[in-house]
Amino acid sequence: MSADDDDAARHVCTRLAHLGNDPASNHGVVNPPVYRASTILFPSLDAYEEGERTPFDGTRYGRRGTPTTFALEDAVARLEGGYRSVAVPSGLAAITLTLMAFLKAGDHLLMVDTVYGPTRRFCESVLKGLGIETTYYNPIAGIDGCVRANTRLVFCESPGSLTFEVQDIPRLAAAARAAGVITAIDNTYGAGLLFNAFAAGVDISIQAATKYIVGHSDVMMGLITTTEETFLRVRRATAFFGSCVSPDDCYAALRGLRTLGVRLPRHEATALRVARWLQGRPEVAHVRHPALADCPGHDVWRRDFSGSNGLLAFTVHAPSRAKLAAFIDGLELFGLGASWGGYESLIVPFDPAAIRTCTPWPHAGPAIRLHCGLEEADDLIADLDRGFAQLAAAS
Ligand SMILES: *Cc1c(COP(=O)(O)O)cnc(C)c1O
Repeated sequence: MSADDDDAARHVCTRLAHLGNDPASNHGVVNPPVYRASTILFPSLDAYEEGERTPFDGTRYGRRGTPTTFALEDAVARLEGGYRSVAVPSGLAAITLTLMAFLKAGDHLLMVDTVYGPTRRFCESVLKGLGIETTYYNPIAGIDGCVRANTRLVFCESPGSLTFEVQDIPRLAAAARAAGVITAIDNTYGAGLLFNAFAAGVDISIQAATKYIVGHSDVMMGLITTTEETFLRVRRATAFFGSCVSPDDCYAALRGLRTLGVRLPRHEATALRVARWLQGRPEVAHVRHPALADCPGHDVWRRDFSGSNGLLAFTVHAPSRAKLAAFIDGLELFGLGASWGGYESLIVPFDPAAIRTCTPWPHAGPAIRLHCGLEEADDLIADLDRGFAQLAAAS
């Protein structure tokens, strides 16, 4: 079996068990080995010159990647239903390199207001300094009336970072395409499984593989998956900036992929149980999760997504710093830390109103985001119960 036997009609777990593997080319070894290389040797001048002619195609020098990199890129491109993927050193690098690939001085970028914070900071610092203007748009209202003659790219993230507003991507991508504008999405929430960006008309789908693809909180990586038309622009940009990833990290990401289809439904089921339990707590003012009917864009989520993941957010009544600290410090299983997508549960406080400029946050902040890991839901609920007991004792 090689990746060429991949059949998109098969169940995703079946596909994930084989994508990128090619034992026949590796002495029968099941997993693509870790190939370490800077130098690649060519058998003849003809072969070397052929490599010069197709510098973004295949192995010419270690910075381009090795067969371990290509196995991962191939697996993710097939999973996402795109043309090709490019592995880069982090999810943020996948975002910034994509923006640099398509934008130059004088261009205009449409950026969703509920975007991942560091993406916004890149626009406000590096892009602004280069003379590239960013306009933020409301995730629910979309881009109607926002496209200008110099708009080159529409950037989406759905559901939105931390607060899970769901965007109508098919509608937005069609409007962008009609105006001759490229659409890119930070598709990390869906992990390549929950939302089919290319079927929705998007040109570029970005994964922070650091999260669910790697799945074990031990590797930083991003993957940029493109259409055939957008591939060379992206590949050139990543090459110009000298971006490359280690074969060991690619190996770890491939290992993560094998169990992604089993892990994600478990994260989903636990997060849904926790969300419903939180809704019944007297201390809780609001629970935010795309599967709950009052989440902005919930109907679009039902139409376009095949499920949800381990994330949710909530606010508590009369949140004081002391109550928040008592709650968080009282937990044993939820670790306090950034990131998500690993096997372990995490908690992080945030202020939604402070990280958006045109989308109202209708609840009293701050809010708390949970990532439900692979622990047993009953144990996580008991942990949160412990936190609420501490919160009640604080003022
Ligand atoms: C974490 C995250 C990123 C950045 O990924 P890194 O690998 O940490 O750089 C980008 N987008 C979203 C939605 C994320 O959650």
